[in-house]
Amino acid sequence: MNNPYTSEVAERGSRRRRQPGPLGLLTAVWLMVFLPASAAGSWVERRHIGPFRLYAEFPLQKTGRLMADLRRLPDDLWQALRLPPPDGVIDVYLFEARNSYQRYLAANLPDAPRQRRALFVRSGDSSRVFAYRSRHLNTDVRHECTHALLHAALPMVPLWLDEGLATYFEVAPGDRFRGHRARRGAIWDMRLGRMEGLGDLEKVSSVASFTAGDYRASWAWVHFMIHGPPEARDTLIAYLADIRARQPPGSLHVRLRHEIRDLVRRFEKHHLRQ
Ligand SMILES: [Zn+2]
Repeated sequence: MNNPYTSEVAERGSRRRRQPGPLGLLTAVWLMVFLPASAAGSWVERRHIGPFRLYAEFPLQKTGRLMADLRRLPDDLWQALRLPPPDGVIDVYLFEARNSYQRYLAANLPDAPRQRRALFVRSGDSSRVFAYRSRHLNTDVRHECTHALLHAALPMVPLWLDEGLATYFEVAPGDRFRGHRARRGAIWDMRLGRMEGLGDLEKVSSVASFTAGDYRASWAWVHFMIHGPPEARDTLIAYLADIRARQPPGSLHVRLRHEIRDLVRRFEKHHLRQ
């Protein structure tokens, strides 16, 4: 676990409990408990940016480019995946330090895994993201806000795809093609023949058994579908559209194999050639 990427994804791995969704896939939902307004932190700034309603214990200008990235994130998902922005609001709570974050969660979400750096919590129409200031703040917020946008647009999201997409969008927009720290590890996994196959990733049903290698492999498949052959992206978009329409989508792996000859060879070539 020397890889910093490994420890990071492990830290925020089990942010929720999973149960079979209505179409036999996985939902990624934390049961919401009552969050009283009177328990709000000492917010020094509140701001509305697109669908995100932010509450921060520190001036938001200290987050650098995060506000600009959040503003464009719904459009980035539309451009890449044809998923529309949410109708409702996503509340984002940003804490000054780990202590105040943990205190707030203990008081308001006692079942939440407080050792995680960030959380996405959804119940019914309510979506909330929690994070605290650290050198990973911007990455954590983009990651969890991607989960929030995905779950606002879709009735459920398969675990591997949920994490693969959140990992893909967690970096600043200019780094998504070549600048993700998962890339180096994924290429080594490929060279050493130890990367998890997509069929196996689809079978992982519990976030507790989702490994750092699974995160890298999920990221690599998402990157391939978004930046690889046009038919791969078309397949992903059609798959998400079926989920959105509540049509049983089946296996994305099967669909990709059907659409793309020599799928694994093309996938590996896509990454090893860059
Ligand atoms: Zn995640």
